[in-house]
Amino acid sequence: MDDEKKLLKVYQKVDNFIYEDKCLWGNCSSKSILSHSHTKSILKNLTVNNENKIYGLTKNFIRRRKGILFDLYTINKASTFHGFCPSHDNDLFKYIESSELEEIDKKAAFLFFTRGIFFEIFQKKSAILRTEKFKELLDLNNLEYNDSFLYFIKGCKVFLETTSPFYESEIYNITENKKFEKINFLFKKIPKKLEISLSTTINPINIFSDKNFSGKPQPIFSLNIIPYKNHGIILLTWLKQHDNFMEKIKNHF
Ligand SMILES: [Zn+2]
Repeated sequence: MDDEKKLLKVYQKVDNFIYEDKCLWGNCSSKSILSHSHTKSILKNLTVNNENKIYGLTKNFIRRRKGILFDLYTINKASTFHGFCPSHDNDLFKYIESSELEEIDKKAAFLFFTRGIFFEIFQKKSAILRTEKFKELLDLNNLEYNDSFLYFIKGCKVFLETTSPFYESEIYNITENKKFEKINFLFKKIPKKLEISLSTTINPINIFSDKNFSGKPQPIFSLNIIPYKNHGIILLTWLKQHDNFMEKIKNHF
């Protein structure tokens, strides 16, 4: 078999690699289910031709390599991650998932932020596992590779060692003591249906040019684009203690 064919097989195996783990919340030891980065009822507003499918970023390595960005997925598979066990998935987010929100308050902003941060933690954990599997299979098949992707694993590990414990402890503290005043947010209500759903986290500064951030948690804000039936919400959320990093972004919002 030539190297190109071997490589395709490796990609296929990595694609089929299934990430399963326990609930990400606190010390919960229950198994995680596939949580949606946005609730299913929100994603339903994006279905194509009234079928149970929506477009999402492709999860397929081979298709990504060909430059294909999107694939059609059933709602149950789209935009999901192994986040929480059924009871945490239901109980924690009821406030933002039981009805369409016209306005965003601190509690809602905090919950969207929480989902975004845990989505990021899951992405980093699964990226490490998938990339390590990828390396293992390349070695096993004697395939040569540029090992620059190992820096990617290193970056993910640094995030899990320094940034995620900080956010997890802030989130548990705010949840337990209902200290939603520790959150700041900005939102815009768009008076028409939006055709996209997004839940992501962004670092507002370039930490690589700032040595002060070596070994310290990064400032992160979450960005949500929420497509309700007849209106949409664009929401930015961050911890109040990171206000000074958000000035420029706030001015452009
Ligand atoms: Zn749980």
